[in-house]
Amino acid sequence: MIDPRRITPLNNCRDENGPVLYWMSRDQRVRHNWALLFARKKAEQLRQPLMVVFTLAPSFLNAPLRHYDFMLKGLQEVETKLRKLNIPFFLLQGEPESELSRFAIEMKAGVIVTDYSPLKISRKWKNTIGTQLSIPLFEVDTHNIVPCRMASGKQEYAARTFRPKITALLSDFLTCFPELEPLASTTGNSPVDWESIAYNLEVDHRVAPVKWLNPGEEAAANCLETFLEKRLATYAGQRNDPNSGALSNLSPYLHFGQISAQHIALQALKSSAPEENRSAFLEELIVRRELSENYCRYNEQYDSAEGFPSWAKESLLKHASDHREYCYTTEEFENALTHERVWNAAQLELVKTGKIHGYMRMYWAKKILEWSESPEQAFKTAIYLNDRYALDGRDPNGYTGVAWSIGGVHDRPWFERPVYGKIRYMNASGCARKFDVSRYIARFEGKEDFLTTKNTK
Ligand SMILES: Cc1cc2nc3c(=O)[nH]c(=O)nc-3n(C[C@H](O)[C@H](O)[C@H](O)COP(=O)(O)OP(=O)(O)OC[C@H]3O[C@@H](n4cnc5c(N)ncnc54)[C@H](O)[C@@H]3O)c2cc1C
Repeated sequence: MIDPRRITPLNNCRDENGPVLYWMSRDQRVRHNWALLFARKKAEQLRQPLMVVFTLAPSFLNAPLRHYDFMLKGLQEVETKLRKLNIPFFLLQGEPESELSRFAIEMKAGVIVTDYSPLKISRKWKNTIGTQLSIPLFEVDTHNIVPCRMASGKQEYAARTFRPKITALLSDFLTCFPELEPLASTTGNSPVDWESIAYNLEVDHRVAPVKWLNPGEEAAANCLETFLEKRLATYAGQRNDPNSGALSNLSPYLHFGQISAQHIALQALKSSAPEENRSAFLEELIVRRELSENYCRYNEQYDSAEGFPSWAKESLLKHASDHREYCYTTEEFENALTHERVWNAAQLELVKTGKIHGYMRMYWAKKILEWSESPEQAFKTAIYLNDRYALDGRDPNGYTGVAWSIGGVHDRPWFERPVYGKIRYMNASGCARKFDVSRYIARFEGKEDFLTTKNTK
């Protein structure tokens, strides 16, 4: 039922008598979650209670209110759904390593199961917990369709080298999910006080929640349904037009694990949309997304310009002292104060909606390279802005997308030109050839903050 290749023991401890804890971290959902299914199965086999626990870190890579709000509302729904299945949910506040260890000892836990992330902060947490405790810690990759470590054992050069590997494994892993069976009885633990948690958050309140996208598993399922019914059929032809609204908008849900990529892929395959649209969408959802996971897993420098391939580093270095016609500070970029209205519109889209259209995201990052004092500074600026405002930020896709745009990761050398060196170039006339630029600008320019709510604290 659960492919054992999804499961990695993170220490050598043997199962102990005591409750099975599912430490929910990246995959914040009840349905279609292999880690939760595995924990449920373990509890049944060991005849032990099952508990789901989430550790709310006081800060996570500088995430502001917008991200915490989206996540907490999703977790509130997780708690409600679990209660209907008689599965208790606990929310611990504090540093994950110490809080989870303390809780596991207090509950006399026998096994801990968690989900998978290639990011360094998550690996560090798991490493500490796996060595601190003398009970087994299992990691289940329920974020990827093909478990990241199975898809490839090394950093892949490009989509063309990764595609055949992942495609060969899809028939093994792209399978249907079993239902999560309820527990026979409830432990009656006290509910989480969500209001007080939200009120006491010590995070940056200047980046407000967005109104246009509701958080949570149900909202994610509705978003998928609408996309499959109304927009997938135009995806291949219109996905590079930011005015078309052809994209799925699923990335914030995927980032917080409020929906499963495997479930999305299965539903997309069942859709009656023409084949070219289904395969264009699945290429992004499976090949490109899981290639980003591969990059972050196998490249320790994924969060800096050090991670770029050698040809790109050499070429950018050769052009380090090239004259920059425009050079902006991070603040100028952040406040959309460049000379170019289309770039400013993309930045405003990011600030106001928490997302930039996929085509504009490439353009946005490439211009940050062109108008920054160095590629290293450009990388830092793009990551800072993406992580601060994008609801899907702080994700392997973000690090890889910026590294692709600025540092040639998964790309090839192009014709050499000033500042960019051999990094692929994009310009505003390319945008004008693809879509109605004035319309895009008009949607996001202007002072009114029409898509965000005000800070209420
Ligand atoms: C500079 C830059 C920064 C980016 N930052 C992020 C980020 O922080 N978080 C993020 O999830 N994506 C990021 N991407 C990738 C991509 O732009 C977004 O995934 C996509 O725009 C999300 O919108 P959607 O869900 O409506 O996309 P759709 O086109 O509907 O795609 C569906 C899903 O496929 C995956 N996908 C689509 N395009 C890509 C891609 N190029 N690479 C990897 N996976 C892809 C995503 O999971 C996406 O949700 C970035 C790309 C670039 C060039």
